[in-house]
Amino acid sequence: MVSRIAVAGGGIAGLSAALLLARQGYEVDLVERDGPPPDDLGDIQTWQRPGAPQVRHPHMFLGLFRNLLCTRLSDVHADLLAHGVEEVDMTAPPGVAAPPDAIDLAGFGSRRATVEWVLHRAVRKQAGIRVHQGVSVRDVVVEGGRVTGLRVDGAVIDADAVVDATGRRSALAGAFTGAEEESPCGNVYHSRLYRLLADVPQPPMFLVPVVFAGGAGFGGGLYAHDNRTFAVVFARLPEDDVLARLREVGAFEAAAGAVPQFEPWLRAGNSEPIATVTPMAGLTNTWRELSPAAPVGYLPIGDVLCTTDPVLGRGASFALAGAVRLADLMDRNAGDLEAVGAGLRAYARDEVRPWYDDAVRDNAQRTELWRATVEGRRAPEADLPLAVLAALAGMQDLRLWELAQLRANLLAAPDSLDTPEVSKRLDAVLSSGWEPPVLSPGPTYTELTDALAAQTG
Ligand SMILES: Cc1cc2nc3c(=O)[nH]c(=O)nc-3n(C[C@H](O)[C@H](O)[C@H](O)COP(=O)(O)OP(=O)(O)OC[C@H]3O[C@@H](n4cnc5c(N)ncnc54)[C@H](O)[C@@H]3O)c2cc1C
Repeated sequence: MVSRIAVAGGGIAGLSAALLLARQGYEVDLVERDGPPPDDLGDIQTWQRPGAPQVRHPHMFLGLFRNLLCTRLSDVHADLLAHGVEEVDMTAPPGVAAPPDAIDLAGFGSRRATVEWVLHRAVRKQAGIRVHQGVSVRDVVVEGGRVTGLRVDGAVIDADAVVDATGRRSALAGAFTGAEEESPCGNVYHSRLYRLLADVPQPPMFLVPVVFAGGAGFGGGLYAHDNRTFAVVFARLPEDDVLARLREVGAFEAAAGAVPQFEPWLRAGNSEPIATVTPMAGLTNTWRELSPAAPVGYLPIGDVLCTTDPVLGRGASFALAGAVRLADLMDRNAGDLEAVGAGLRAYARDEVRPWYDDAVRDNAQRTELWRATVEGRRAPEADLPLAVLAALAGMQDLRLWELAQLRANLLAAPDSLDTPEVSKRLDAVLSSGWEPPVLSPGPTYTELTDALAAQTG
């Protein structure tokens, strides 16, 4: 009989898996090597998270994440809203009234640390979870092909199953995963968090971020977050030595100042930085497949299985979705950990893998466009991706809007727009004389690099 489960890693996947499994009656040991969050949310910027450095970068939480919270962890959802997270309604384009039969569709931007802080609060209140904070997982203990425990610093925690939620650098996965694939995202992140001062209105979400794609040579956005915080992020090619200066505070601020769309919030007196400029390099799309030969009871979820380009904002949703699927499989296959492992493998292959392939394709196309700009070549002619075209045309046809948003929010499969209905609706919009609007273009690559050069002088 399965009664004790050890969860390795206390990021989004681990915290939510611990909550869901404890609520099903399992005894859960949650092991996380970083220290606990501060008691007061107001001190959240002081929380050190070296185990998950992406926590310091801006995070968008898509519809899949928000819907799973509402349906499966509704107390966490309510607590997030009670602690300064604001949802953005996506049922209709901005400024357009939603049709009466519109589906419930919302997401939010938030400091990732705020979301984890709320998850930690729920874990602390939850009976059946022992939290081991500041403790490193070393190894999975296996006897006769079955998991019997989790080796941590100087001790073994007895367990019938180990949930590996230790993220993309999992030290456990290597022994138990078969096929492994990796493809560079083709970007390096530079971001900084700010707080709005006085009565300055918040930036709208989903109108800003302003995203400079399509041949501009770099990407950038301003993201509204919780509690009147917001983040500015730039993404550049890894080999771009000129924009590598974005890691310097002065150069970053000069670049941000060169984006007219950011001005209302970055103007002196309207906001103040609450963190330094933070880089993140080495970003890759990664895919790992749980080996059929893995010991019974080794159950990987979240970034251990798959990571995708952060620009696409999908990883946290997959982390929560993996925890939910694991809980459902445990429920459905009570006691049969072999069936749970097989179910997780099928889930990852059928529902997550297509998004890995989508990210690899997206990144290859974007990298080609960015390189052409940075190297001063003519960018190759490229049609707007179907997902982008459908979202834009959705401003004319609300059914197209809905279909595009379902896909963008991971509530429909990557190929869900490849249908006769979508082609017919797109044809109708295009034949009416409508043309896709030019998205907020922001500075050109040359204007941005000029702004950096001027900052030096
Ligand atoms: C720059 C950047 C920006 C991103 N932006 C977004 C976004 O906007 N939206 C979005 O949905 N996703 C985003 N992501 C992806 C998202 O952050 C990840 O997909 C998500 O963190 C995965 O959660 P996880 O719980 O699987 O792993 P993690 O969050 O990495 O958590 C793993 C945990 O395991 C702990 N750990 C590791 N090893 C051990 C060990 N040996 N012993 C004990 N504990 C251990 C770590 O300390 C950590 O707490 C972004 C990623 C990056 C890199």
